[in-house]
Amino acid sequence: MKPRRMLDIAPRLIVFAATLLLLAPTTAVAQEEGPGWKTRSPFRPLNLPAANTLRTGAGRPGPDYWQQKVDYRIDVSLDPTNQLLTGSETIRYTNNSPHALSTLWLKLDANLCNPDSEARVLEVPPLLFGDSVFDFTCSDGTGISLDRVAAGDRELEHEVMGTIARVDLPHPVPPGGRTEIEIDWRMTLPEYGYGRMGRDGTLYQVAQWYPRVAVYDDVSGWNLTPFLGAGEFYQEYGSFQVALTVPDNFVVTATGTIQNPDAVLTDEQQARLARADGSEDAVAVITGSEARSNRDRRASGSKTWRFAAENVRDFAFAMAPDFRWDASSYNGIRIQTFYRPEATLWEEANRMSWVTIQHFSERLYPYPWPHATTVEGPNDGMEYPMLTFVPTETTREGLYWVLTHEFGHEWYPMIVNTNERLHPWMDEGFNTFIDIESVEVYFEGEPYADAISVQPLELWADHSVPGTEQAMALSPDQQHDLFWAAYFKPALMLHTLQYEILGKERFDRAFSEYTHAWAFKHPTPADFFRFMEDASGMDLDWFWRGWVYSTARLDQAIGGVETTDDGVTEIRLESRGDMVMPAELRIEYGDGTSETLKLPVEMWKLGPEYAYRVPAGREVTGAQLDPREVYPDDDRANNAWSR
Ligand SMILES: [Zn+2]
Repeated sequence: MKPRRMLDIAPRLIVFAATLLLLAPTTAVAQEEGPGWKTRSPFRPLNLPAANTLRTGAGRPGPDYWQQKVDYRIDVSLDPTNQLLTGSETIRYTNNSPHALSTLWLKLDANLCNPDSEARVLEVPPLLFGDSVFDFTCSDGTGISLDRVAAGDRELEHEVMGTIARVDLPHPVPPGGRTEIEIDWRMTLPEYGYGRMGRDGTLYQVAQWYPRVAVYDDVSGWNLTPFLGAGEFYQEYGSFQVALTVPDNFVVTATGTIQNPDAVLTDEQQARLARADGSEDAVAVITGSEARSNRDRRASGSKTWRFAAENVRDFAFAMAPDFRWDASSYNGIRIQTFYRPEATLWEEANRMSWVTIQHFSERLYPYPWPHATTVEGPNDGMEYPMLTFVPTETTREGLYWVLTHEFGHEWYPMIVNTNERLHPWMDEGFNTFIDIESVEVYFEGEPYADAISVQPLELWADHSVPGTEQAMALSPDQQHDLFWAAYFKPALMLHTLQYEILGKERFDRAFSEYTHAWAFKHPTPADFFRFMEDASGMDLDWFWRGWVYSTARLDQAIGGVETTDDGVTEIRLESRGDMVMPAELRIEYGDGTSETLKLPVEMWKLGPEYAYRVPAGREVTGAQLDPREVYPDDDRANNAWSR
């Protein structure tokens, strides 16, 4: 889902607060330990699930790691007069777990729209999200009605429970075994689909449209957390063969590759696509004037578009009669943009997409699918494999921000497949973090690039409110400020880890290795923590505790400066909050020189006070903590001392 547009970025007000502190008495001050430091030191090990042969203590998939595979063959038709989807599907389920399974659980997320859904019954209030409001009441859809669930000739017992359904299998699927079930269903598409899908006139952005099998994993068994709207999705990988029948005046794009181009595209369009496949610059497959004249074409019948996709965790599609369609190629990947003729800002969107896909491919993991496509439309921003929905937007900056964000989701969670419904910071947060660098690349030399990098720290001041802030480890349904806890606080956390704790090179290498190690798998938070510690060579339990599992606050302070009888000057540093961080200390000397020291976080291991000793013979005239003001320090007034 999208984060707030980031345009209103005021220059950060930098306040130098130089506070004169009284000299402390020259007698040695007992090192007082902060409350609980003796038994609840911030350096105590995190209480993580025990490592095993599936998930190792080094944070990697173990030799016994397994996950299920779910393949779909779907025939579906969309009647735009009645907004009705009618489908039948065959699900082939491969049980790679060591357990026999006698039931399959289905996800029917579109049932959020049903009157008896948890979200409707509880009248879940709209999610306020920056400038946007996400209303999950979804009054005009019908959800998914299951008309028939069967295995061959045999009807299967099943029960729908809100956004999930249980299907009893005729025989348990043994470990290593397979089963196939068939489902016929109907669904009326909502105009506004809870911020994840929808339509605007004749433009459709369709998702959560077919019965999907829930994830069965080694961590939780079946993952059946109900869909309340704020939490997103968790899916198995598999292949899709989808035949989508729509009126023949529509142009369709989807997850997957078109299997029958001769039947659905003109010769001219195919020739233009072939040209685009050899071009880094956008080629118009459907021009603006063609799109405008297509708008007036009436359907004379229907057309079936056939798509196939391998190794994806979901399938979405979009369609309209009047799409403009631009295409280019990056490294053999077709980069596609679909937009209405009025959305003129989108003429740059193909270039933006190209740069985005190249940047993330080089930085994180090579883009693994044959196309990367984004569709302009009513949705505020949403991501599916190979396909993203992005709003029209009114500025280049706004368009790039949402476009790169939705494409960033191709890496997290489409490639690194976490449980978004439980751990939004590993999905939206990782993504917001990588998006910032993507903006810096595209807008290099422009004000937006400079403004974006300090945005998370600026937002900290507004959103990190003591007493109301919630730990980012909580699920989205529990978050009052999802914008902060799931998007920008994790971005600030990773940026701090990258630049202030590990250093860029050490961090980037570990983060890319994590992405490779868990590509097309299901990592948990513990796997990420362990991996980053193992790959970077640094114990980071104290870091994850402060940032992920608590709302700990940082307040570094200079408690006093004193010169002992032997001429040594002690600068007494204090960690007054319950978050610890390394310290950066700038010291000014009487001879006019100065130096900046990086003190590792281990300085706080014996307690929240640390005396930095300046050898005899050097007169200290000033000292300042965090002189670059890169930390979210609660009280900057106590960061500086001068004689
Ligand atoms: Zn998102």
